[in-house]
Amino acid sequence: MKTKNYNVVIIGSGPAGLFAAIWLEKLGLDKIAVMDRSPYPAGGLLNDGKLNFDYRVGLDIEELQIDRAAAEGMMQEIKQIFTGFPRCRQVTFIENNKKLLALSAMASEHGAQFIAPEQWHWGTDNGKDLVDYLRGYLKKTDFLLNTEVIAIEKRSDNNFRLDCSAGEKRINCNARVILAAPGRSGAYWFRDLARKLNIRNNFGPIDVGIRLELNRKSYDFITDIVYDPKFIFKTGRHGDKVRTFCTNPGGRVRVENYGTFKLVNGDALSGKKTKNTNFALINTVALTKPFSDTTEFGQSIAKQCFLLGGGRPIIQRIGDFREGRRSSLAAFNSKTNHFEVCKATCSATPGDITLAMPARIIDNLWESLKALDKIIPGILHPSTLLYAPEIKFFDTHFPTDRYLETNVQGVFVAGDGTGKSRGIVGAAISGIIAAQGIMRRCGGVNDR
Ligand SMILES: Cc1cc2nc3c(=O)[nH]c(=O)nc-3n(C[C@H](O)[C@H](O)[C@H](O)COP(=O)(O)OP(=O)(O)OC[C@H]3O[C@@H](n4cnc5c(N)ncnc54)[C@H](O)[C@@H]3O)c2cc1C
Repeated sequence: MKTKNYNVVIIGSGPAGLFAAIWLEKLGLDKIAVMDRSPYPAGGLLNDGKLNFDYRVGLDIEELQIDRAAAEGMMQEIKQIFTGFPRCRQVTFIENNKKLLALSAMASEHGAQFIAPEQWHWGTDNGKDLVDYLRGYLKKTDFLLNTEVIAIEKRSDNNFRLDCSAGEKRINCNARVILAAPGRSGAYWFRDLARKLNIRNNFGPIDVGIRLELNRKSYDFITDIVYDPKFIFKTGRHGDKVRTFCTNPGGRVRVENYGTFKLVNGDALSGKKTKNTNFALINTVALTKPFSDTTEFGQSIAKQCFLLGGGRPIIQRIGDFREGRRSSLAAFNSKTNHFEVCKATCSATPGDITLAMPARIIDNLWESLKALDKIIPGILHPSTLLYAPEIKFFDTHFPTDRYLETNVQGVFVAGDGTGKSRGIVGAAISGIIAAQGIMRRCGGVNDR
């Protein structure tokens, strides 16, 4: 087969990759390819689909080297695209919402920062249709699906050669520019490859914690005002940051399988609700010398949970967590202590989370849970369930210029897997910034 030549090959078809392609077409570039090892061009767009439109959520404007106005400008454009999908509906309204001010005051009384972004949601059950709708924006881009990039070589003419496997076949192609947007699932593959190409990178922080599941009646009071409320705590004892994240009213707790360990997560359907609400409570951990490898650190916690849970995540009643006592299976079937109020939506092993995580993290989580219970009474109800481990591995970070180009000319990065975002909207923004940089590199028009 003849080797194809592209101006740009985008690795990854998640929000970072798709929005980069949409912007490149808009800016007038041709010969664009999006590659993904999956058969369907979606990345994390098939999961839940909560959109947070707030410059403080899901991105770091310092890391992206943009100011608030630039971030908000791009968010408007991204919003226009997503909200053109009829089943993406607004779930949090912030304009003239007096209840938000009251909540914010209540949170600060208990030492927490409260952020309520404008939020929209389409639900996991609408994910495929949403992706088909987004793909409709792309008229000229080649999609090379079921195609995994294995290796990249920089050639003497400064172009790149990509070696890929497509099922049984090996294929290759050439590109003037590469955009790596491999998401968290491809982060370590790209990190290894980057080292071979002398692309600078270092370890970013990770978020380690638990997912709470409770009867939704205890939390509807707040999620009726803000679908996914963000509370940020600075803990008194250790001065660490703990935050709530990814709330799913009427949702389900889900398991992500990484082979040697499993993580918990959550989502919600649009058409079918459970009686529960779940959300993550996570503690940000950064490490310095002599051991800065947050990947290894996070994985060792995840593996400890895997070991203790017999290959499944651990589930614990909140009372047992407080006492540092293993939950028994009986505690999940009994009606004592009103345990029947919250039935688990996810299969996990009754165990002791406090045995699997460092004491400092457990201290921070417990302190934050107590503060949260003061803001939203009911969190500490005996029926509340805790699942572990919930870990967000945003642990690979690439230093870049303001267009997200790495130290190797022609290699751009975007999205969660390269430390440039932490969510769909942030990933889309980073894709747009990279697209602007790629246009400069390919000699086309500059940023608009
Ligand atoms: C259960 C769950 C629920 C979530 N809910 C939300 C939510 O409600 N709101 C929100 O904002 N975020 C949510 N997220 C996070 C969100 O999915 C990510 O932030 C987002 O998808 C990151 O986008 P990305 O483009 O960086 O990477 P991804 O969307 O992960 O896309 C990366 C793509 O690269 C491909 N790839 C990787 N390596 C290679 C390779 N070598 N060759 C070819 N292809 C490769 C992968 O197959 C993947 O399709 C959720 C995540 C999960 C797991």
